[in-house]
Amino acid sequence: MNIQRIFCIGRNYAAHIEELGNAPDSDCVVFMKPASCIVPVGSPVRLPRGAGSVHHEAELVVALSGGGADIAVGQALHHVAAFTLGLDLTLRDLQNQLKDAGKPWELAKAFDDSAPLGSWQRYQHQDLQALEFRCSVNGELRQLGRTADMLYSVARQIHILSRSWALQAGDILFTGTPKGVGPLVPGDLISIESDTVGRFEWHCS
Ligand code: ZN
Repeated sequence: MNIQRIFCIGRNYAAHIEELGNAPDSDCVVFMKPASCIVPVGSPVRLPRGAGSVHHEAELVVALSGGGADIAVGQALHHVAAFTLGLDLTLRDLQNQLKDAGKPWELAKAFDDSAPLGSWQRYQHQDLQALEFRCSVNGELRQLGRTADMLYSVARQIHILSRSWALQAGDILFTGTPKGVGPLVPGDLISIESDTVGRFEWHCS
């Protein structure tokens, strides 16, 4: 797959909004990462140094086959080509500083190696709102996500994005993280898995 743009949705699981101390009634947040942030399975993740804590955010990721602008919610899933799991790595201390200062999040979200990404599973009308996924660090379970708990469904997220961008083949979407985010340090082994897409792991250096 030739990935062009990485869209990310933030604040999509109520229990995660709560753990970060954000307002429960806030809208979802949209941000982007460059495709150069992707770390395929089998490559090490180089954590940034000297910039505070790096948190894992395990997420369902979908790839689009196209779709264009102004996609209706009811049509949105017709434009999903594949799905997998990924990590939206986040410099949490820096993100909190940027949030407090009202500044954009790129420095905390779009750094090199900030998007480890699993292998794609072809979308064949599996129920994307009925997936369970797990994130473990050194064998210890950190996050257990159920896409049924999303505040904005995958279809709704595609609809929202399509109001600002004409969606194209090669666009992928990180769909938000459930609670349980936490720090990674060099030497950690992080894995994400679900019954539907398999298990993917990365060594942090
Ligand atoms: Zn995220």
